[in-house]
Amino acid sequence: MKSMTCRQLGGACDEVFRAETFEQIAELSKKHGMEMFQKGDQPHLDAMNKMQSLMRSPEQMQAWIEDKRKEFEALEEE
Ligand SMILES: [Zn+2]
Repeated sequence: MKSMTCRQLGGACDEVFRAETFEQIAELSKKHGMEMFQKGDQPHLDAMNKMQSLMRSPEQMQAWIEDKRKEFEALEEE
Protein backbone atom coordinates (compact mmCIF):
# COMPACT_ATOMS: atom_id res chain seq x y z
CA MET A 1 0.00 0.00 0.00
CA LYS A 2 1.08 3.55 -0.68
CA SER A 3 -0.49 6.74 0.53
CA MET A 4 -0.92 10.26 -0.79
CA THR A 5 -2.88 13.18 0.57
CA CYS A 6 -5.75 15.04 -1.02
CA ARG A 7 -3.44 18.05 -1.37
CA GLN A 8 -0.75 16.00 -3.15
CA LEU A 9 -3.38 14.92 -5.65
CA GLY A 10 -4.50 18.41 -6.55
CA GLY A 11 -7.03 18.76 -3.71
CA ALA A 12 -7.23 21.03 -0.73
CA CYS A 13 -6.91 19.09 2.54
CA ASP A 14 -4.66 16.59 4.31
CA GLU A 15 -6.97 13.59 4.07
CA VAL A 16 -4.83 10.53 3.35
CA PHE A 17 -5.74 7.99 0.66
CA ARG A 18 -4.18 4.53 0.56
CA ALA A 19 -4.08 2.25 -2.45
CA GLU A 20 -2.04 -0.35 -4.32
CA THR A 21 -2.08 1.42 -7.66
CA PHE A 22 -2.13 4.96 -8.95
CA GLU A 23 -5.48 4.32 -10.67
CA GLN A 24 -7.02 3.30 -7.34
CA ILE A 25 -5.68 6.29 -5.49
CA ALA A 26 -6.84 8.62 -8.26
CA GLU A 27 -10.30 7.08 -7.95
CA LEU A 28 -10.36 7.60 -4.15
CA SER A 29 -9.27 11.19 -4.57
CA LYS A 30 -11.98 11.74 -7.18
CA LYS A 31 -14.70 10.32 -4.91
CA HIS A 32 -13.53 12.47 -2.02
CA GLY A 33 -13.50 15.50 -4.31
CA MET A 34 -17.10 14.82 -5.36
CA GLU A 35 -18.18 14.55 -1.71
CA MET A 36 -16.52 17.84 -0.88
CA PHE A 37 -18.06 19.39 -3.97
CA GLN A 38 -21.52 18.30 -2.79
CA LYS A 39 -20.85 19.80 0.63
CA GLY A 40 -19.86 23.04 -1.10
CA ASP A 41 -16.45 23.07 0.59
CA GLN A 42 -14.82 26.26 -0.72
CA PRO A 43 -11.13 25.23 -0.69
CA HIS A 44 -12.02 22.08 -2.66
CA LEU A 45 -14.18 24.08 -5.08
CA ASP A 46 -11.20 26.36 -5.72
CA ALA A 47 -8.90 23.37 -6.22
CA MET A 48 -11.40 21.87 -8.66
CA ASN A 49 -11.59 25.08 -10.65
CA LYS A 50 -7.82 24.97 -11.00
CA MET A 51 -7.97 21.36 -12.18
CA GLN A 52 -10.67 22.23 -14.67
CA SER A 53 -8.59 24.94 -16.28
CA LEU A 54 -5.75 22.39 -16.48
CA MET A 55 -8.09 19.90 -18.15
CA ARG A 56 -8.82 22.31 -21.00
CA SER A 57 -5.47 21.29 -22.40
CA PRO A 58 -5.22 17.51 -22.87
CA GLU A 59 -1.41 17.68 -23.05
CA GLN A 60 -1.18 19.64 -19.82
CA MET A 61 -3.60 17.28 -18.13
CA GLN A 62 -1.63 14.25 -19.35
CA ALA A 63 1.61 15.79 -18.11
CA TRP A 64 0.02 16.44 -14.71
CA ILE A 65 -1.20 12.85 -14.44
CA GLU A 66 2.19 11.46 -15.44
CA ASP A 67 3.81 13.69 -12.84
CA LYS A 68 1.53 12.40 -10.09
CA ARG A 69 1.97 8.84 -11.27
CA LYS A 70 5.75 9.20 -10.96
CA GLU A 71 5.30 10.71 -7.51
CA PHE A 72 3.18 7.71 -6.53
CA GLU A 73 5.62 5.19 -8.02
CA ALA A 74 8.48 6.80 -6.10
CA LEU A 75 6.75 6.35 -2.74
CA GLU A 76 7.86 3.70 -0.29
CA GLU A 77 5.54 0.72 0.19
CA GLU A 78 3.90 0.87 3.61
ZN1 LIG B 1 -9.67 16.97 0.43
